[in-house]
Amino acid sequence: MSIDDSRRKLLKTGLMAGASLSLLAAAWSLPAIAGKITTPTDRYRARPGGKKEIYVCFGVHIDAVSGWIGTYGGQDSIRDITRGLFSGEVGIPRLLMLFARWGVQQTFFAPGHSIETFPEQMKMIADGGHEIGAHGYTHENPASMTRQQEATVLDKSVALIKNITGQAPTGYVAPFWEFSKNTISLLLERDFIYDHSMMQHDFIPYRLRKNLVWKKINYKKAPEAWMIPTTQGPETKLLEIPASWYMDDLPPFQFMDHLGGGGGYSDPYVIEKMWKDRFDWMYREYDYAVYTLTIHPGVSGQAQNLLALERLYDHIHGHNGVKFTTINEIATDFSRRTA
Ligand SMILES: [Zn+2]
Repeated sequence: MSIDDSRRKLLKTGLMAGASLSLLAAAWSLPAIAGKITTPTDRYRARPGGKKEIYVCFGVHIDAVSGWIGTYGGQDSIRDITRGLFSGEVGIPRLLMLFARWGVQQTFFAPGHSIETFPEQMKMIADGGHEIGAHGYTHENPASMTRQQEATVLDKSVALIKNITGQAPTGYVAPFWEFSKNTISLLLERDFIYDHSMMQHDFIPYRLRKNLVWKKINYKKAPEAWMIPTTQGPETKLLEIPASWYMDDLPPFQFMDHLGGGGGYSDPYVIEKMWKDRFDWMYREYDYAVYTLTIHPGVSGQAQNLLALERLYDHIHGHNGVKFTTINEIATDFSRRTA
């Protein structure tokens, strides 16, 4: 039942029951209340007859061996290193085949370690016209590094990508999806246009703010010492193309015994349903939005997950105004919109 329908029904019932004027006023005030509920991204909300502009990217985080060394706890396991080799040697070509079948160019975020370990596969990515973005060297956590260490890793990663594509990358994904307090400055100093690691919105890009400050609770101290609100600094030029744990294949589908098991045995049909629901809600609620899925060749390169991606693509592809493209194009387009 729409708001108008319920209003009419309430009005009719109210009149029949001889309801007071204040009750009728309450019924009529519903739209006014709704109008007061606002978000910073309302300009992109769906309007009747609005033209849909929905950008979709199945962004690939290569991770491969570097993921097992830097993040997933497999640094001492020959078996896990071979899982990383699977990602590079088997997973990447499978995803490339999928994208070629669909006729789309997507974005691959490549750790320097993967670039140097899998030169043939990296060449296939570049030859396919896909974007290559930066993603650390050994999937190391930026929040654990000094400014100098983080800068050295970033410079090495930029140089390696430049070697393949002839151009410096415009986009970055932080390993762990973690920033240090220096990350935004380091990216801006190197002319990055966008990052794709933060989670302040889910479907609309925005500009990152430096100096996000929050206070942790210290139960040993009086509450006055930590009852302090969170503050954010001014916007920077750096765009954020939203990331989300609910749009990532790794938590449900990657088994990691060193980390207490992790996922790996979720039903792909259940996760695919969640991804479809997220797409459907976004499509209904916004005229402009971005739908950026995060996949890994070692995870989505597995047979059952490849089939899930095929079904998801078929679902999304059938909607008007949907464009599969690179995240660089999404960022460039959003910059134009907000210039
Ligand atoms: Zn990664």
